[in-house]
Amino acid sequence: MTDHPRYSIVAPIYNEEGNIQKLYERIRTVMDSTGEPWELVTINDGSRDRSLELLEEIAARDDRIKIINFARNFGHQIAVTAGLDHTSGDAVVVIDADLQDPPELILEMIERWKAGYQVVYAIRQERKGESWFKLMTAKVFYRLIYRITDVNIPLDTGDFRLMDRAVVDVLNSMREHNRFIRGMTSWIGFKQTGVSYVREAREWGETKYPFKKMVRFAMDAITGFSYFPLQIMVYVAFILGLLAVLAIPVIALLRLALGYEFLGGQVTTIVLLLIVSAFQLFFLFVMGQYVARIYDEARGRPLYIVATKKNLNGVKPGALSSREARKMPEPEV
Ligand code: UDP
Ligand code: MG
Repeated sequence: MTDHPRYSIVAPIYNEEGNIQKLYERIRTVMDSTGEPWELVTINDGSRDRSLELLEEIAARDDRIKIINFARNFGHQIAVTAGLDHTSGDAVVVIDADLQDPPELILEMIERWKAGYQVVYAIRQERKGESWFKLMTAKVFYRLIYRITDVNIPLDTGDFRLMDRAVVDVLNSMREHNRFIRGMTSWIGFKQTGVSYVREAREWGETKYPFKKMVRFAMDAITGFSYFPLQIMVYVAFILGLLAVLAIPVIALLRLALGYEFLGGQVTTIVLLLIVSAFQLFFLFVMGQYVARIYDEARGRPLYIVATKKNLNGVKPGALSSREARKMPEPEV
């Protein structure tokens, strides 16, 4: 019965033991109401709590529940990628496991999909139960990304979205290591639309996105979709150059008027040197961000490592390295 599900739901899971049973029940209720076959592909992203155990109990009773168990924590975006790699439905929905994304909205997404849209993203109209810091950084982040990137990533959307098989196949062929999936989906194109919803507070537990992961996520988004940080260097160079040229006559005149000691001495030199060095180091860091990502691609490591699978025997090839995906020959030893 499960050979060809019409719908695949992808849920990444990292230490979500308190949410799993409820997630399963709510998804089952919603998806059963469609009257069509479905599957739930879960990815255990190196959880250290009882998440895997609970998933396995459910998967033993219901073979529509599939498990990809990672060898360690690879992060949210990679977990979603692995889930997408292993789906076989005609329409695929990515959802958070903490029930911040209401499964009931999937029905509305399916309606839009049946009306001919290939991507239906969920727009967060309101976010409940989140710290002002998260709300503020999210707001700034989405607007910054919107301004400086070349693709039109819709504001205030997360990864909660429905994608047609055609879109998922393209996405699966994009094996870049530093993944900003919502950006990649926008970049792919096709007919896209949004449905709004109120983002609830987490059902159980705490956010799995500490500040460090948020920063990394933001940098992947920016470097993945924009050259702006590389380009602003030229403006800074012009401004500093112009200031230097203007400074010569200005200081000469001021010294004629105010005496030779004006602005003299080492202190001015040291301060200017520090400012300029700071600029230079900052832009070296910016360049380093891009270079490090080139290095990630050059190594061509697999995106993730699967330790075990449940209810998924021999369905999909699993992780391709970017080298394999690009059909590059393996280097000769
Ligand atoms: N998640 C994951 N790996 C991680 C961090 C998070 O698979 O390293 C999962 C997490 O279990 C949840 C989803 O990604 O299902 C979104 O994470 P979270 O709710 O913590 O993010 P927030 O909603 O706070 O932005
Ligand atoms: Mg959450």
